[in-house]
Amino acid sequence: MKRKTTRWLNPAGGYLEGFTHTLNPYTGCSFGCSYCYVRRMPVGMFRAEPWGSWVDVKRLDERAFRREWARESDKGPLSLFFGSATDPYQPSEVEHSTTRRLMELMLERPPAFLLLQTRSALIVRDKELLKAFGDAIRASITLETDDEAVRRHFTPAAPPLAARWRALRELQEAGVPVQAAVSPLLPHTPDFAARLAREASRVVVDDFHRGDGSGGRRSAQLGMREQYRSLGLEADYAPAAADRFYETLQSFPGVNVHFSRGGFLP
Ligand code: SF4
Repeated sequence: MKRKTTRWLNPAGGYLEGFTHTLNPYTGCSFGCSYCYVRRMPVGMFRAEPWGSWVDVKRLDERAFRREWARESDKGPLSLFFGSATDPYQPSEVEHSTTRRLMELMLERPPAFLLLQTRSALIVRDKELLKAFGDAIRASITLETDDEAVRRHFTPAAPPLAARWRALRELQEAGVPVQAAVSPLLPHTPDFAARLAREASRVVVDDFHRGDGSGGRRSAQLGMREQYRSLGLEADYAPAAADRFYETLQSFPGVNVHFSRGGFLP
């Protein structure tokens, strides 16, 4: 469904304090991750269909966007979290290219910083565009685990991990600032940290307890502990698991590793 949109830039706050705005090119998200806290927000709650089964494509009035962008830019440098409540490179983007067009318009008056969050390899389509932002962009590719069975359990409709590792590599080779977002950390193989240390120039680690914007409450409401229990891994559903993983990553020489909110900030 295509909807009229009057406002694209929303003031950032809470977990995303430190950014001036969030920007979501779509409403809804066809990846429908089981842990996605957006399903507990008004946009997800007040919709009859289940989260993950619908996407609204926002109609892009380019003149109106330019006006809004100029108005906000006049107030001071913009730093955006692009994709706080949707994935900018979900399948709808193949047809509609809203994400791509928004970034082209932004480049007419570039922001101070753009964090582009996705778990889709479609981002590689736009690597030349991303390069045009120089150091003002960070592509953040979600890699919550290295275990494809775990990925299928928690996020069956999300892109396979192999495609994300490939996207990470291709963007790095193209010279785009990029990070692997282990967010939220999911059960993984013993090799995960070493592979990240080898293949990612920058890593941020986050978990259900620090990273869901509510101290873990939303994740609890979404039944994450029960999901871990169903896998026989309830003991791993604790902040200590991410703390240990972060410390392990830090033990590899030369790894640029960050923890939770600070790893997403400009
Ligand atoms: S990709 Fe992001 S926005 Fe989409 S369902 Fe998963 S966590 Fe939510």
